[in-house]
Amino acid sequence: MRTQYSAANWKMNLSLTEGEDLIKEILSIKKLTAAHHQIIFAVPFPLLLPMMKLVEGYDRVAIAAQNCHQKLKGAFTGETSAALLASIGIKYVIIGHSERRQYFAETNDLLKEKIDLALSQNITPIFCCGEPLDVRTKQGQNEFVATQLKESLFHLTPENMAKIIIAYEPIWAIGTGQTASTAQAQEMHQFIRQTISVAYTSALAKEISILYGGSVKADTAQELFSCPDVDGGLVGGASLISKDFSQIIAALK
Ligand code: PEP
Repeated sequence: MRTQYSAANWKMNLSLTEGEDLIKEILSIKKLTAAHHQIIFAVPFPLLLPMMKLVEGYDRVAIAAQNCHQKLKGAFTGETSAALLASIGIKYVIIGHSERRQYFAETNDLLKEKIDLALSQNITPIFCCGEPLDVRTKQGQNEFVATQLKESLFHLTPENMAKIIIAYEPIWAIGTGQTASTAQAQEMHQFIRQTISVAYTSALAKEISILYGGSVKADTAQELFSCPDVDGGLVGGASLISKDFSQIIAALK
């Protein structure tokens, strides 16, 4: 079975002590994960090291960065590179979140550079893709997402492509309380897998975990995660509440 992920995206929320309390509460759950499950907390840069300390010894719990720069080092005040993340032992990084695309003008081409650098540092990218509302309204979502995949990922060798985690996040469902229906989620996840299988092979496409993101809540997770091509979720708002995120973890296949 493909690895099933419950990935929290804290964004620019939670202080050091709030973050510590939340992770401690989640770790106190007795039967936290099965062998094919992975929990990830994507936290702000200053919280990476202290949160990594908290999850030390938990094989299936990891801390991720929410972004990295498109260069490995140099005069880029205020930025953090994949090399810096690797130097503290980070294993996952979110790349291409819609908020990065929207507020920091990140393009498919730029994200391609970030993907390459993360992989060069043995960091697994969690690559976000997804369409805005106007594209969905015109039924252009497949073409839109296929272009994102093609322009940022499909230059990769099959070996590197197999290392990518994809998060499908329809922008109209992020932080809005609106969720894609299970049918819409499954349809797009199947389309993404099919697109990868055409660009590479169906064997490779079957290996890649595709997470759903967009207002996943404790009471919607089970139905969404039960779709055959949905391999867990990338969760924003609901990941900030330990009771809700625990239920989302429990909903993994
Ligand atoms: C996200 O930003 O990755 C996300 C899915 O947020 P939310 O769950 O709050 O919609």
